[in-house]
Amino acid sequence: MRNGPTTPYLPFTPALAQALAGARPAERWLAPLLACRDEDAPTLYAAADSVRAAHMGSDVHLRGLIEFSNYCRRNCAYCGLRRRNRGVERYRLDLAAIVATAQAAEQLGYRSVVLQSGEDLWYTPARLEKILRGIKATTDLAITLSAGERDRETYRRWRDAGADRYLLRIESTDPALFAALHPDDDLEERKACLYTLRDLGYQLGTGVMVGLPGQTPEMLARDVLWMYDLGAEMIGVGPFIPHPDTPLKASTGGTVDQTLRLVAVLRLVFPDVHLPATTAMGSLDPHGRERALQAGANVMMPNVSPTEYRAKYEIYPGKICLSDDAAHCRGCITGRIHHLGRTVGTDHGHVKRVRDNS
Ligand code: SAH
Ligand code: SF4
Repeated sequence: MRNGPTTPYLPFTPALAQALAGARPAERWLAPLLACRDEDAPTLYAAADSVRAAHMGSDVHLRGLIEFSNYCRRNCAYCGLRRRNRGVERYRLDLAAIVATAQAAEQLGYRSVVLQSGEDLWYTPARLEKILRGIKATTDLAITLSAGERDRETYRRWRDAGADRYLLRIESTDPALFAALHPDDDLEERKACLYTLRDLGYQLGTGVMVGLPGQTPEMLARDVLWMYDLGAEMIGVGPFIPHPDTPLKASTGGTVDQTLRLVAVLRLVFPDVHLPATTAMGSLDPHGRERALQAGANVMMPNVSPTEYRAKYEIYPGKICLSDDAAHCRGCITGRIHHLGRTVGTDHGHVKRVRDNS
C-alpha cells in the first residue's frame, strides 16, 4: 500500500478519536490515519485499545475454525485454493467428520465454531443443512458459516437450520481492484450477497485484505465507510500474503503494521463490533495477533481442524499451527490471552445488536 499523493499528514488526537466514534466519519480523516507515521502509530493503537476496553471489556472471544473443504470453484488471483492451482491436494470432510470436529471443539471449551471452505458446490443446500442440524442437535455451539457466495434461498435454508453468523469478506470495494482480483466474480453480486445475509438476520461478518497490489489508503478508507453503511458486525482484516502458485506471486503483500492501523481505525469507527486478531497476522509476525489484540481486536479463531488436513488448506504460505492439534492450540491461545492480562470469553460471543431485523 502506498501513500497516495492526496494523503496529508494528520496527527492523531483524542479529539479525532471522539469524532471518529460519533458518526459516519469523513474519508479525509481515515486515509491519513491508515497511513500514519510509525511514531504516531502507538497513540492510535492505544486509543483503539481503550475504546475496546470500554465497549467490549477484557474478554477475547474464541471461535474454533473448522476448514471443512479446500475445493473451490473460483479463481481469486490471491488465493492458494483457487481452482486453477493444480498443486493442491483437495479434501472434503463429510457430515460425520464435521459434526465430530465441532463436538470435540465444544469439549475443549469452545462456545462457537466457524465452518469455512472454498466455494464447494458438493455441499448442496441440503447437505450443509444436515451438517448444521447435526451440530445444533448435539451441541450448544453458535455457528458461523464462511462458504462463499450462494443464492438467497440457500442462505435462508442454512439460517433456518441454525447458522447464526456468516463471514463473507468484500475484499475490496474498489471496482477496478475487485475486478482485477476476481476474474469470475462481480463486486455488485458480492455486495448483494451481504445485503441478503443481513436481511436474513445473520450476524454479519465481512472484511478486507491489506496490501493488495495497487491498493491505497484512500481505497481502504472507502472500504471502511462501505462496511459502516452495510452495518457490519464482525470485521476480519489481515495482510495479503502472496502465494507462490498464484498470479500474484511476485507482489509485495501487506504488512502487520499496515494492518494494525486498519484494526485500530476500525475499532474507533465501530466501538461495538467483533474484530478478530487474524491468523494471517500471526503468520507474518509471531506476536502479530497479540499486537492486534492490543490495537482494538477482541476475537481469535484458533484452528480446530483435524491436523492431517491443515497443511492442505493453504490459502497463503507460512500459515501457523499446521502440525498442532486442537487441544494444543486451545492451550496455546489461552496462554497468550492471559499473558496480555485479558480473559477468555465464556459465553457464545454473539454480536451486540445494532440492527433490529432479527
Ligand atoms: N471461500 C471463502 C472462504 C475461504 S477464503 C471465501 O472466499 O469467502 C477466506 C479468506 O482468506 C478470504 O476472504 C481472503 O480474504 C483470505 N485470503 C485468501 N487468500 C489470501 C492471501 N493470499 N493472503 C491473505 N489472505 C488471503
Ligand atoms: Fe476460493 Fe475463497 Fe480462495 Fe476465492 S478466496 S479462491 S472463493 S477459497
